[in-house]
Amino acid sequence: MFTSITDYFIPAGFTGSLDLRRRVRIIVNTVLLTGLFSINFMLLCWWGDLLPGLYVLLFGVVSFVLLLFGYRAGWYSHVVLGYAFVFVGYLTVAVNSAYQGGYYAATTWWLGLCSVIATFLLGRRAGLIYFGLGLATVLAFWGAEQLHYRFPNQVPAAKAQFWHLDILVGLMLILLVVTLVFDSINAQALQLVEAQNAQLEQSLANLHAAQAQLVQREKMAFLGELTAGIAHELQNPLNFMKNFAEVSTGLVDDIDGPAVPHEPGARLQGEILAGLKQNLREISQHGQRATAIIKGMLEHSRTGTSQRVPTDLNALVEDSLRLAYQGLRAKDKTFRAELNTILAPALPPVAVVPQDLSRVLINLLTNALYAVQQRQRQADSSYRPEVTVQTSAGPGGVEIRVRDNGTGIPDEARAKIFQPFFTTKPTGEGTGLGLSLSHDIIAQGHGGTLSVESQPGNFTEFLISLPLN
Ligand code: ADP
Repeated sequence: MFTSITDYFIPAGFTGSLDLRRRVRIIVNTVLLTGLFSINFMLLCWWGDLLPGLYVLLFGVVSFVLLLFGYRAGWYSHVVLGYAFVFVGYLTVAVNSAYQGGYYAATTWWLGLCSVIATFLLGRRAGLIYFGLGLATVLAFWGAEQLHYRFPNQVPAAKAQFWHLDILVGLMLILLVVTLVFDSINAQALQLVEAQNAQLEQSLANLHAAQAQLVQREKMAFLGELTAGIAHELQNPLNFMKNFAEVSTGLVDDIDGPAVPHEPGARLQGEILAGLKQNLREISQHGQRATAIIKGMLEHSRTGTSQRVPTDLNALVEDSLRLAYQGLRAKDKTFRAELNTILAPALPPVAVVPQDLSRVLINLLTNALYAVQQRQRQADSSYRPEVTVQTSAGPGGVEIRVRDNGTGIPDEARAKIFQPFFTTKPTGEGTGLGLSLSHDIIAQGHGGTLSVESQPGNFTEFLISLPLN
């Protein structure tokens, strides 16, 4: 009930922090309680026929109520409310003391209470200000006494003892109640903070769960893509194999079947056998392609498991370039390209898995040679296919650049070239696993990076950076 009365005086649009709200509630509560206790003293003044005291206290109570309603209407801040409240309190105490014997009055004690309450509500500075004011008042009473001014004690002598008792018990009660209120408001604030903490923890847990779910979904999507890619890749050669096998079965049936009358049987059988041989060759080729895809995927899963040994990268680069060039020349004898090697002379041995890195280099170089070959087919005779491999040593590691002046990679393809099964090569020529595997070998297997720069129709450059340790 008391809480709802307190909250009534907090302005509707209050937008302070939790701590500020707690402070404001303490101030409002203290004003309300002091008002209530002032009524007790008003009764006391009435009982003691001390009408000036009664009026001063009435002034105090009315001021408190007006102050609270003014604050509620948003006319001033809680700081003004606090200062004004302590000031009204100070005035009523000072005037009452002047009526009840000045320096000797029981209420003079309360000047100290003003400074305690000011510290409590508004902080050290307010406490010091009211301490100074209280001290000045006490000194003024004392000074007047020294100058032989007698403050009239208008408390009837017969009621004086009870008077003192009531005032002191009142003081203790005020302190007790203010402390209890302060404590309960603190506890409420603590509960609120705890509730908010629990809510935050819950949100965090939800966030973690959502994150885990996202990662899982991403994994599933990747797995789905991978499976679809594998299925798609394998389906092609398998379809060919199946079709050639079916056609071959038909051919074998033809051998067993009746010979066509006007065809010499031997020639027919010869043709059928030649067809069969061709089909078997096709089946074998497509079988090899399926095997290559599966081999590529197996290597994907094996990446990074072999031992690293200090390796002369310059030698590895030269070997790989020779192998890649020979590989392409085996398929197209007419193909020629200018091969450049710019090798850093003092390259330190780098700890790598030689067969893995060589695979990466052959991959990059084969792609580069393929790209210049493709461009040569489209370009005029002035075009000179060129592939350059460069090694260099930096402070943190070594770099290998593979550059070609081939077709280049369009922007939209560049985003996908490291994805498994992404290929722009015609069916049968590329598996789309080369770069994704190369990326895995460099990044996961060696803690390095593989990046690409390209200008379509101009050049492509792959950069391998390997850390030294
Ligand atoms: P694949 O060579 O089997 O297609 P990769 O993963 O090695 O698979 O390459 C993926 C794609 O990246 C290629 O199909 C090609 O489109 C592109 N690419 C890679 N290297 C180059 C290059 N040097 N020049 C132009 N395109 C390239």
